[in-house]
Amino acid sequence: MAQAILSLNAGSSSIKFAVFKSEQQADPVLSVAGKVEGIGTAPHLVARDSRGAVLTERRWDKGQALTHEAFFGDLLDWLDEHLDGCDLAGVGHRIVHGGEAYAAPVLVTPETLAGMEALTPLAPLHQPHNLAAIRAVADVRPDLAQVACFDTAFHAGQPEVARRFAIPHELEDRGMRRYGFHGLSYEYIALHLARIDPSLAAGRVIAAHLGNGASLCAMQGGRSVDTTMSFTTLDGLVMGTRSGSIDPGLILYLLLQEGCTAESVQRLLYERSGLLGVSGVSSDMRALLESDDPRADEAVELFAYRFAREAGALTSSLGGLDGLVFTAGIGENAPAVRALACRRLTWLGVVLDDEANKRGAALISAPGSAVTVRVVPTDEEQMIARHTLHLLSQRQETT
Ligand code: AMP
Repeated sequence: MAQAILSLNAGSSSIKFAVFKSEQQADPVLSVAGKVEGIGTAPHLVARDSRGAVLTERRWDKGQALTHEAFFGDLLDWLDEHLDGCDLAGVGHRIVHGGEAYAAPVLVTPETLAGMEALTPLAPLHQPHNLAAIRAVADVRPDLAQVACFDTAFHAGQPEVARRFAIPHELEDRGMRRYGFHGLSYEYIALHLARIDPSLAAGRVIAAHLGNGASLCAMQGGRSVDTTMSFTTLDGLVMGTRSGSIDPGLILYLLLQEGCTAESVQRLLYERSGLLGVSGVSSDMRALLESDDPRADEAVELFAYRFAREAGALTSSLGGLDGLVFTAGIGENAPAVRALACRRLTWLGVVLDDEANKRGAALISAPGSAVTVRVVPTDEEQMIARHTLHLLSQRQETT
């Protein structure tokens, strides 16, 4: 009988979910995809089938509390009626931080959950929400198997030199090192690329996950060798509301000279900087591209400039570049940003096919380009489903 897996990506104010079905080791196939947004304000749920048709939609009144337990209880009851007799084999979660301990997905047990809890100080804005979803599912369905899939895991095999900060060893021993994130997205890109363009996948590729959060990953033969996010999700590229790399001395200046509190600096760097901070208009790339405010242009230019600067650095980590892959909201949907970013990489031999880029083709480099440029829609939920199925089938084999 076909098995179903529920993939969950739980954030502070939204939860993305997807149901995949799988027959006999075959690739998981999307059956339902949905999202609840506005948790804590005015929750709104939509679930669609694989063709995008709305299966259910629900709004909660403003101020009407929607607890994780109530939401997952309702979702699992609803799924029971929509799985067409298929067995829900388990739930897979996106967990932002696996630290040093988790370099691969793990089955959730009281021990592994405690291990993930212990990593909360490394990702205080994300990890608690990820773990709340695990606990809520366990409360309503204690017998359902759960698997934790880590956003850091794909980077765990990077060379030591790429993982170190130039700080004393005793700090590194306490976990202060470069971890990297968006790993489930990059793992999906590597897998997909190996299928559609195996010779490129075997080479030196930079994958660019450009969404609200944005990072680059240098991959050699499908493995991560370097990445722009590091100890936290703040590092690297300009993002929707996050600053990306800045001089650490600026933080000291704000704290010591300007009398800012640590909390206000945290809010500044995570919530008030990036595209929003520079433009003063929006954190949303679409809104900036449509705006005629010169500061919106400045924010987009800075985004492209820093993209190219970081891509240059990762090209050095790779010792050259064969391919560039764009993904996530901006990478998949904003030809104007791809064009600006690629123009700054002309020195590397990147030549875009402007018409293919505008059309949103899968292959957007010109025939003579020294670097192959592709657009690949990412699918982190599918990656979670794959890991979850794999781990659960291994568990069945050993019992
Ligand atoms: P994500 O975090 O992957 O959902 O990506 C969100 C970002 O993608 C936001 O900055 C959106 O403005 C941007 N985005 C989505 N669609 C488009 C589009 N058609 N054109 C430009 N930016 C887009």
